Amino acid sequence: MDKYDKVFELAKNRGFIWPSFEIYGGASGFYDYGPLGATLKRKIEDAWRKFYCVGEGFYEIEAPTIGVEAIFEASGHVGGFADPMTTCEKCKESFRADHIIKGQMEIPDGLSKQQMTDLIHKHNIKCPECGGALGDVYDFNLMFTTWIGPGQKKRGYLRPETAQGMFVDFPRLLRFYREKLPFGVTQIGKSYRNEISPRQGVIRLREFTQAEAEVFVNPEFKDKHPNFDAVKDLVLPLYDEPCQETGAEPKKMTVGEAVANGTIANQYLAYYVALTHQFLVSVGIDENRLRFRQHLKNERAHYATDCWDAEVLLDRFGWVEIVGIADRTNYDLTAHQNRSEVDLSVFLPYETPKKVMKTVVTPNMGVIGPRYKGKAGKIMAALKSMSQDELDKPEVKLDIDGEEIIIDSSLFEHKTVEVDVSGENIIPHVVEPSYGIDRTLYSVLEHAYDEDIADGEERVVMRFARGVAPITVAVLPLLSREPLTGKAQSIARDLKCAGFFVEYDESGTIGKRYRRNDEAGTPFCVTIDYDTIEKDDTVTIRDRDSMVQVRAPVKDLVPILGGLIMSNKPITEYGKRV
Ligand code: AMP
Repeated sequence: MDKYDKVFELAKNRGFIWPSFEIYGGASGFYDYGPLGATLKRKIEDAWRKFYCVGEGFYEIEAPTIGVEAIFEASGHVGGFADPMTTCEKCKESFRADHIIKGQMEIPDGLSKQQMTDLIHKHNIKCPECGGALGDVYDFNLMFTTWIGPGQKKRGYLRPETAQGMFVDFPRLLRFYREKLPFGVTQIGKSYRNEISPRQGVIRLREFTQAEAEVFVNPEFKDKHPNFDAVKDLVLPLYDEPCQETGAEPKKMTVGEAVANGTIANQYLAYYVALTHQFLVSVGIDENRLRFRQHLKNERAHYATDCWDAEVLLDRFGWVEIVGIADRTNYDLTAHQNRSEVDLSVFLPYETPKKVMKTVVTPNMGVIGPRYKGKAGKIMAALKSMSQDELDKPEVKLDIDGEEIIIDSSLFEHKTVEVDVSGENIIPHVVEPSYGIDRTLYSVLEHAYDEDIADGEERVVMRFARGVAPITVAVLPLLSREPLTGKAQSIARDLKCAGFFVEYDESGTIGKRYRRNDEAGTPFCVTIDYDTIEKDDTVTIRDRDSMVQVRAPVKDLVPILGGLIMSNKPITEYGKRV
């Protein structure tokens, strides 16, 4: 059993994750979160909210998971969100062409469909399932398609990323933020990608949760993040393009240096790389198994200036991307502005108005209106957007919806005047940290998984960060009999009232219950014994990691547990060691 098998076995048995639809044979790419898994997931999401919604002040929105076709035509997903696929001519099973070829030989990323088809034929690569011949490589769009309403008139797609919902809502969000840049918006929710034969367990899913923040910023200020000083001294392992090209190890560099020497394109991007590091470590990703990899030029979307992935080291899969942090420029908003014909620009006032020369066009609408009817408005707009030189001709040629229209200069007047301009309109740039919550959660599980020796026996312990452990405290009567059980239940009730995730457990020996809670990753166990009842109303608190126990008064449990969870302080600071 490798680590993945061990973690997954525990995940199934302890109620973290299991395959979906098991009683019907399951379907690859779908997993359920059980009671502890769903709780862990919510806590990771809530920790994310603390960073991005509370810390950064970015409000969260919730858009539909189904989108109309126009959104994804504009975003480029209808045309380009595809993976190369090949289908077995015998058993009809389909495969990612690049993965099948990589199983046989080393190839660079970014080969064309034709190049991959040639490789499959030249090297006689066969279907791994049945040995049949593989067909030519073609594009397979990863979006799930559906129909909105009855019939097949209105096509819809299950969103492949949460980001588009935030771009489409831009005009309303801009108004909400009182028309000022920069501002950020977040969304946590399901995304769907019909991945071709996902074989990496919980790493590649067909339905998964993303937590994304879109930060809208004036491109002129991308190098002036207001809070950059707070992260500039953080040292990060940066696996930049040159390292990857030469096979060198990632460079350890402060965030400040990375921006100053051009490793990371700008302060905004670097700030969110740093924040990603802080967040991931805070929820339990091992710092020593975390690095930031720069996208190579051939992997980057053509519009992106720079893009970094947070990658974690997993036992079976090697380095896996769990977060992408990209400078998406003004690509998305421009694409939606063009497709929707809605102005998505932001007006930026100048400190003092500027004097500029402006060409003013006055069309003769008395003639243009009746002559060109429905097109008159567009003709007027086209004339107004032309320069003095273009208008200085006996006639001007316009392209109105693909039709050439010639307007005689007698149909308009124009002159150039000096005007005061109080500002300009720009399309903001977007810097986006995009987290995969499921991959983060699996990485948290794997990095928390540990085996050691307790009381002479091997134990499995999930060393979750205190703040995200699904159960914070287990309350255990030493024996399952009164008056210990009654007292323990009353303590459990009080801790629940104070907001802790509590598990009351009285079944089995105390040793077995400690082991069970170690496997569930419960950071603290509170045990009620006869001294509690007969002597001094104190209990023991056991620390999961060190297994050290301290004695503390029942009346102090709430502040003690609160303090332990908020900090990483040792338990001995909170009570007398026993
Ligand atoms: P992307 O939009 O491809 O950059 O994805 C952003 C993040 O979403 C990635 O870093 C992953 O953590 C997550 N993600 C993307 N595709 C999948 C998938 N098929 N299954 C699980 N997580 C995914």
